[in-house]
Amino acid sequence: MISAPILLTPGPLTTSARTKEAMLQDWGSWDKAFNQLTASVCRDIVRIVNGEGSHVCVPLQGSGTFSVEAALGTLVPRGGKVLVPNNGAYCQRIARILGYLGREAVLLDHREDEPISTERVDTALRADPAITHVALVHCETGTGVLNPLQEVADVVARHSRRLIVDAMSSFGALPIDLKTTPIDALVAASGKCLEGVPGMGFVIARQDRLEAAKGNCHSLALDLHDQWAYMQKTGQWRFTPPTHVVAALRAAMDQFQAEGGVDARGARYRQNCQALVDGLRALGLRTFLSDAHQAPIIVTFHAPKHPNYQFDRLYQGVREKGFILYPGKLTEVETFRVGCIGAIATPEINLAVQAIADTMQELRLPVQANPS
Ligand SMILES: *Cc1c(COP(=O)(O)O)cnc(C)c1O
Repeated sequence: MISAPILLTPGPLTTSARTKEAMLQDWGSWDKAFNQLTASVCRDIVRIVNGEGSHVCVPLQGSGTFSVEAALGTLVPRGGKVLVPNNGAYCQRIARILGYLGREAVLLDHREDEPISTERVDTALRADPAITHVALVHCETGTGVLNPLQEVADVVARHSRRLIVDAMSSFGALPIDLKTTPIDALVAASGKCLEGVPGMGFVIARQDRLEAAKGNCHSLALDLHDQWAYMQKTGQWRFTPPTHVVAALRAAMDQFQAEGGVDARGARYRQNCQALVDGLRALGLRTFLSDAHQAPIIVTFHAPKHPNYQFDRLYQGVREKGFILYPGKLTEVETFRVGCIGAIATPEINLAVQAIADTMQELRLPVQANPS
């Protein structure tokens, strides 16, 4: 019996002992040592995506959504119009944010089990020259589907529009290269694939676009330009920084680099994903996505079609065995989700599969080999 549960969720996620230990020290927000810590984290974040010389990292207090809202509110001017290719819950959240901000949004709806169509983005941009920006979710965590970032970025650039990317659940695990992929702003957070703890988001923005965005933002706390300008001037955060989160992220990024960066992390997550999918398919469970569209971040499974199935009961049974599952986010079909990310590898995934198998048996759910 494991006392601290292993999180199979898309964040917060399981962190290493070293990352947790980094939070045992208190830091003064004016202290030079803390400001150096912030600067080193920001510098290394930009390097992960090859953004040196063109892009800057602006960290922001709060969960990932705060940074998505800050990026949209700061970089999209008040008269802007944003195309939101939509294949899931996080795309819809972007549209909701734009509604709150009073920025015009055009949703380009897709099925939730299909990646965004580059052709349809192309057609939409051709048809409406008033669209100034495209907001794309790289890995749509609502289902786990991977969207074609490079292709969409190329189309957006061809139409001379601006691209803002929610790379929250892909940053650090899937390669993104700002030298070859034209992106104005990339948004991610401490508590996802970098395997830090939650509490800090960041926006990697083209410096010239950020400079041009002065005065756009509707909100003081979410004004990325102001946050960046202040940090440039003083080395400090505006307002109380999440000191322990920054310290944990520094430790997590040291481990990320030691592991071998994006390639190694992505490879470990792909192994986790494969072990998970193989293991649950062997129990007769079916994935919501076809393998071709699946990102190695989180997997959506169809719930067993059986009167004994209730997510809460599956959750509780698996929880008692030391693992935390995630509910589905789809309205039409009954599903549950299992994350592949965090400081875990195939041994933990195999134990989780066993816990799910045992719980299914306890609930008298049929466990059978998948016929397909
Ligand atoms: C996690 C995540 C977010 C941010 O969610 P928070 O709950 O605010 O941290 C945004 N977009 C995607 C794709 C995510 O996976």
